[in-house]
Amino acid sequence: MSATELRKDWDTYFMDIAYMVSTRSRCPRRHVGAVLVQGKKLLGTAYNGAPMGVADCSEAGCMISEEYELVVTDGQEEMVKKQRCIRTIHAEQNLLLFTDRIDREGSSVYVTDEPCWTCANMLANSGVTEIVFHRSYPKDTSKVTNMMQQKGISFRKLDNYQPPRETMMTVSN
Ligand SMILES: [Zn+2]
Ligand SMILES: [Zn+2]
Repeated sequence: MSATELRKDWDTYFMDIAYMVSTRSRCPRRHVGAVLVQGKKLLGTAYNGAPMGVADCSEAGCMISEEYELVVTDGQEEMVKKQRCIRTIHAEQNLLLFTDRIDREGSSVYVTDEPCWTCANMLANSGVTEIVFHRSYPKDTSKVTNMMQQKGISFRKLDNYQPPRETMMTVSN
């Protein structure tokens, strides 16, 4: 293989960074990392976590919220009880809290997980024009995809991507 073939493409490069950032998360249920990219320049990184100075999941345990969710398996609809940790600010929201609007205009966000509806809604109003994610979050996919289309924001899943091995963790649902 030549040196150019061995060189990472930009999508892989920035998604790898998002996964590295996700390892900072202290929530044992979900590690999410997000990075803001303008051109080829990294302008911010964020992960899901409790507000600064407040006990996080590793200290105080996850704050579990239970709700029923419609899950479709092989065309069969079913209401399934799901547990979610609501202690943390989502990575995408932290990214918006720690970057400037002017930097975000026309920028891209690489995020390890497909944004939930609330994060997607906020990103849609943040100046970002491209969102690239890796792991799917089927619950909100259809309404999020629909909104991104209306906003003209490029919204794509990175296929054929392997996260750096050292960033992988087992997630309990
Ligand atoms: Zn947690
Ligand atoms: Zn979210």
